[in-house]
Amino acid sequence: MATKWLARTKKKFLRLHPAWRMYLIVLGLLVLYNEVLIYVLQKLKWSNIYCKEPSCVRILLVADPQILGKTYDTHFYVGLANYDSDRYLAWYYEQAVTHVQPHVIIFLGDLMDEGTDSTEMHFEEYYTRFGETFPTHPTAKQIYIPGDNDIGGLTYNSPLNPVAKRRFRQYFSERPAWVINDNLTIYNINRITAEMTLNDPRMVDSTGQDVSDRYLRIFVSHMPVLDIPSSFTFQAIDNLKPSVIFSAHLHVSQFARTHRSRLKTVGYEPLSQDKKTAYKVHSFDLSYHKDTQELLEITVPTCSYRMGVPDIGYGYAVIDGTTLKYTVLWTTRRIYQLISYLVVLSVSVVMFLFFTGRSLLRRCFERPQHRRLPMY
Ligand SMILES: [Zn+2]
Repeated sequence: MATKWLARTKKKFLRLHPAWRMYLIVLGLLVLYNEVLIYVLQKLKWSNIYCKEPSCVRILLVADPQILGKTYDTHFYVGLANYDSDRYLAWYYEQAVTHVQPHVIIFLGDLMDEGTDSTEMHFEEYYTRFGETFPTHPTAKQIYIPGDNDIGGLTYNSPLNPVAKRRFRQYFSERPAWVINDNLTIYNINRITAEMTLNDPRMVDSTGQDVSDRYLRIFVSHMPVLDIPSSFTFQAIDNLKPSVIFSAHLHVSQFARTHRSRLKTVGYEPLSQDKKTAYKVHSFDLSYHKDTQELLEITVPTCSYRMGVPDIGYGYAVIDGTTLKYTVLWTTRRIYQLISYLVVLSVSVVMFLFFTGRSLLRRCFERPQHRRLPMY
């Protein structure tokens, strides 16, 4: 059956004009590169991080996946666009999980594009799609925190939606903190709702002595924490003394390091955003940061190609003793792949018009073959 089909297809292919044959070969190669090779080649660039300490914790950071909804975008191709975006996210997420083998996976908010205003029915649908795109991993702890696209609260026009906030908490089991092991606790610092754990009893012993040195503390926040310091920021830092802060929302990879007394003048710098350091593993001595009272914040780039930034990927952090190792697992620029399909499709339209026009012209200018009547 398959042999017959193959023979028929081959016959049809050979009957085509040489230009169309060439076009189909180019199209086939482009699809092979865009849908298979580019992913395989990209994965080879990712850095490995090796643990030294037995208590080492590997963390995969997922920022702003913003799976697309169905009400904001009303284009006729929205179904196809959502499908392609989900497929892209799912493929790289699976590869990132395989690469990192994480103990903890942290979703840093803006999980859905239309989470805040969606109806219950739409939310259920998005939640199912989200679960299919980012399935849970049997050996990793999953942590989800909300962003402004999940619960609102960023602007006057999109105020905090208490219903969406409750719904997010219920569906994603959002909590104020997660104790990972004796050496590590992760705190949910929510700048949108101004909510956080006020005090961690583990920081003092039974005599009231400060024993916070015994373990590391990670802040996770959708909104960057150090960029606009407020009384909320100062309180969070004073009470919980973060070893490192991971945030999202800005869609780009950057970091800030500043002394606690100079919080008002903090400036962010790009991290792994240039060709030379793109796949580098950065090392931060967290005990040095504690001793010098320096704060460290890393903003993780978005993993979605629909966020309007060219560089997208996943954050990969390892807490090994008191050292933080961090790299970005950059993913490919899908938008360029889609543009290449548009270009190739336009070429086919031009070729079709050319060949149709040419055959029409030929018919028009061909001399009619009149038979002459005999002269006698
Ligand atoms: Zn956001």
